[in-house]
Amino acid sequence: MSQPELAVRTHCPYCAFQCGILMGEDLGGDRPRISGDPHFPVNNGQLCVKGWSSAALLGHPQRVTVPQLRDGRGRWRPAEWDEALDFVAAKLASIRERCGADANGVFGSGALTNEKAYLLGKFARVALGTANIDYNGRFCMASAAGAQNRAFGIDRGLPFPVADVERAEVVLLVGANTADTLPPMMQWFDRQRANGGRLVVADPRRTPTARRADLFLQVTPGTDLALANGLLYIAIEEHIVDGRYIADRTNGFAAARAVVLQYHPARVERLTGVSESQLRQAVRWLATARSSMVLTGRGTEQHSKGVDSVHAWINLMLALGKVGKPHSGFGTLTGQGNGQGGREHGQKADQLPGYRLIEVDAHREAVASVWGVDAASLPRKGKSAYELLDVLSGEVKSLFVMGSNVAVAAPNLARILPKLQALELLVVCDAFHNETSEHAHVFLPVYQWAEEEGTLTNLEGRVIRRRTVARPPTGPRSDLRVLYDLALRLGVGDKFAFRSAEHVFDELKRATAGAPADYSGISYAKIERQDGVFWPCRSEDDPGTPRMFTERFHHPDGRANFFAVEHREAGEEPSAEFPLFFTTGRYKEHYNSGAQTRGVGKLANAQLLPRLEIHPRLARRHRVSTGSRVTVESRRAKVEFVAEVTADIRPDTLFAPFHWGGRQAANLLTSGVLDPTSRMPEFKLAAVRIASVRDG
Ligand code: SF4
Repeated sequence: MSQPELAVRTHCPYCAFQCGILMGEDLGGDRPRISGDPHFPVNNGQLCVKGWSSAALLGHPQRVTVPQLRDGRGRWRPAEWDEALDFVAAKLASIRERCGADANGVFGSGALTNEKAYLLGKFARVALGTANIDYNGRFCMASAAGAQNRAFGIDRGLPFPVADVERAEVVLLVGANTADTLPPMMQWFDRQRANGGRLVVADPRRTPTARRADLFLQVTPGTDLALANGLLYIAIEEHIVDGRYIADRTNGFAAARAVVLQYHPARVERLTGVSESQLRQAVRWLATARSSMVLTGRGTEQHSKGVDSVHAWINLMLALGKVGKPHSGFGTLTGQGNGQGGREHGQKADQLPGYRLIEVDAHREAVASVWGVDAASLPRKGKSAYELLDVLSGEVKSLFVMGSNVAVAAPNLARILPKLQALELLVVCDAFHNETSEHAHVFLPVYQWAEEEGTLTNLEGRVIRRRTVARPPTGPRSDLRVLYDLALRLGVGDKFAFRSAEHVFDELKRATAGAPADYSGISYAKIERQDGVFWPCRSEDDPGTPRMFTERFHHPDGRANFFAVEHREAGEEPSAEFPLFFTTGRYKEHYNSGAQTRGVGKLANAQLLPRLEIHPRLARRHRVSTGSRVTVESRRAKVEFVAEVTADIRPDTLFAPFHWGGRQAANLLTSGVLDPTSRMPEFKLAAVRIASVRDG
């Protein structure tokens, strides 16, 4: 595609890579043209198929442009903004009056800009006074965040620029299929390997990413923690740990070592299915390289032991002395577009802006003083995402959803959907109807990505600017305006009266000053000048922090923490009744719940329906061939998929993507078992059986 004239530099609306794009101006009617921005140093001009087609969301015929309420027969009818907002505000106030402030729930999103995430958190705490706000990042990044906080004292997905991958001699990628989920990321692995580096991939599926690896570890689902402990066992046994680094920069190695010494290679081979020779090869490469790194994705994180699994990988890289060294260390590949910024600015049940903790008095006071409220009036910690959904229509009577499609993204949908349906009030703020709005009482149409200004923080911790390129249609409003409109009706409009997104950002800066995720030295102008600013950035003179942990970690003593972590069974393991693993993931054509990408013709046509990956051996046993209709059953539900027979998956495992809702929802099968620390549901492992097979 040729580069558009009058190009505006902005970013893709989808994933956390936040590829730089150039957009031609919207000249009225025609959709803006798009090309990759060759000067943005993350994607260097490359885009995936989602990015190339992202302008199709603008001017889309199914765009909702007027507020909608249900009529007496439950059908949508158009409404004036004032009528819809008056209705919502009155219901929220009535529920608060009758049932208490916590009976109103708020559900945010890792797709919201920093300004929106910040203001939504403030809206929940100040306008509604509810503790019950959480967001869909709890279904995405929470376990990696939990482990990094415990190990390093702070959580930034990649504590170094993605370009560091190019100079890493060895990269171990765990549970991350970047060839499909972050295609422009593959250029960095290609360069790394062109420089003589090695790529190791651990995954239950031989994914397109795994096919490009020098070493592939086809690990049994749910055993990554044992795999990491097994690698550290060998490193200790072969005396290739970095004793000087451990002594100088870490705490807790002795306790971790004592546990790891129970992970003899023979035991690990039995648990994980990875041979001892592969284990030794992988850890020797990691340990003896001058630079090496481990990068994790959702495959290792979305488990009931996700935090401990991630910490096991961190233990390994600390023991090898790699964290904080050039082109080395540990990082996690954040998924959602603003998955990083979305988790920093106060839409989590336990956090206030800047990663301040809602249960710490000093943190409450710092934020309350910026908000101009009494710290004692701020609610305490609320329920995490799944726990909040699980009490809908019980102790929580309403849900205000901004930018999230919980009716597809949540686990254990057979349990959650009836609760969503029975709510007294469900409000969805979005640009398009989705499976969640099917249950809603009110739909408030809002601007899309290219229709307003804002900032996002990409997977490197780089704060970037999203710019206005397209004129929004008449009718929708900014999410920021909607929050103001409702706050006004709830009697606190003065606390939400901002002139622009930049004006909100100015308050966000003050609310994060001195906090772990400190944005106080960042401005829209500095982002412009520097092509993004890495937080923490503490003053106007501070250029930001591309590389963290080079001298010290974020704990008060400056040291990183090992943590002794044990392999344990998943919430449910295969049994005689349900003998197979079921795991979920993504297609390159679709983004998360598919609410946007299923509406883009090119993407929808390329992947119309989810396919069930099944190994030929298992397929023969059940008389399944490609195209057969296979009903998969877990303890919670049955789902019929079209089969795709492939030797790329383990014979004991079935895989399906989770981008679809209704009867095609993979999350009907997944469970609501949570990680005890992060409250992350166990999306990546359910025990299932093949209930029936029909010819396709
Ligand atoms: Fe880049 Fe992600 Fe957008 Fe694809 S979806 S173009 S990888 S930001």
